[in-house]
Amino acid sequence: MQLLQPETEAEAAAALGNGSVALAGGTDLVPLLRDGNVQAETLVQVRDVVPRGIVGRRIGAGTTLAELEVDPQIPQALREACALSASPQLRAMGTIGGNLRQATRCWYWRLKFPCYLHGGERCHAREGVHREHAIFGNERCASAHPSDPAAALLALGAQVRTDRREVPLASLYRLPTDDDRDVTALEPGELILELDVPAADASTYLKAMDRQRWSFALVGVAAARFGAEVRLGLAGVAPIPWALDSPEGLDEATPLAGTAYKVDLARALIRRAVAAVSPT
Ligand SMILES: Cc1cc2nc3c(=O)[nH]c(=O)nc-3n(C[C@H](O)[C@H](O)[C@H](O)COP(=O)(O)OP(=O)(O)OC[C@H]3O[C@@H](n4cnc5c(N)ncnc54)[C@H](O)[C@@H]3O)c2cc1C
Ligand code: SF4
Repeated sequence: MQLLQPETEAEAAAALGNGSVALAGGTDLVPLLRDGNVQAETLVQVRDVVPRGIVGRRIGAGTTLAELEVDPQIPQALREACALSASPQLRAMGTIGGNLRQATRCWYWRLKFPCYLHGGERCHAREGVHREHAIFGNERCASAHPSDPAAALLALGAQVRTDRREVPLASLYRLPTDDDRDVTALEPGELILELDVPAADASTYLKAMDRQRWSFALVGVAAARFGAEVRLGLAGVAPIPWALDSPEGLDEATPLAGTAYKVDLARALIRRAVAAVSPT
């Protein structure tokens, strides 16, 4: 395997594609390469060429979760989502760009079962063990998106700048379909460069997990208030980060037998998150 270390953004963009893969902190990608879930002959080290750091509302994609969780310029929901993600060591290495592109934790997928997301016909989780899986958007693939920061960025209405376009964060994701099993809507080799994160009047991120630390979200709820409007973003409930227009949106959930408890969890977290951002 070849490792390219481009010195400019343009060189990195030119090196990507044709089967090469962007490497940032490597905390998700390296295990995926090791286990054969991702195949690549060339890795392109992007950590030193995508912007890193925080200037007002703008966050470089190479900024680590550890840097985000302590910066006072960052809205509270995003700081809390980063602080509740993974472990201190992983947050020191893992970048926000890589976090938004991380792969599903569904164990059938990670163990390379020939499931729908791998291009097969069936979702093994729907028929098998699925306690940690989805309650929305789960008709074909019932995986639960693992990114806490993505839920916070969704509630905050973040915009993403790539090397090709500027789009709302929600547009980075798509539910898998028969002709395209990807859950991200990035083009091959497209690089996330920067995020633009509006300052909310108040925001918070609450996360239910099996342990108090170092666990993926069973359900994560971000709430962000802009004037009288409260926006909600959820992690751990759908194959992609999931926005709800209102708490009543939970009534549209389609839980599996083993994930029905997540609807109650989400309802309780939403109630608490909305109360936390409401004017006193
Ligand atoms: C044990 C463990 C526990 C974890 N717990 C949590 C958790 O609780 N909550 C949570 O949110 N996350 C969790 N994570 C995920 C972790 O936060 C991510 O692995 C990390 O943020 C990924 O960043 P990275 O820089 O290491 O990305 P990499 O591993 O280098 O890359 C990940 C993916 O992103 C792509 N990529 C990287 N940078 C860019 C870019 N600029 N543009 C386009 N594509 C890019 C890569 O090609 C690859 O596909 C956990 C991870 C582990 C291993
Ligand atoms: S939930 Fe998705 S990733 Fe998991 S087995 Fe089903 S299709 Fe595969």
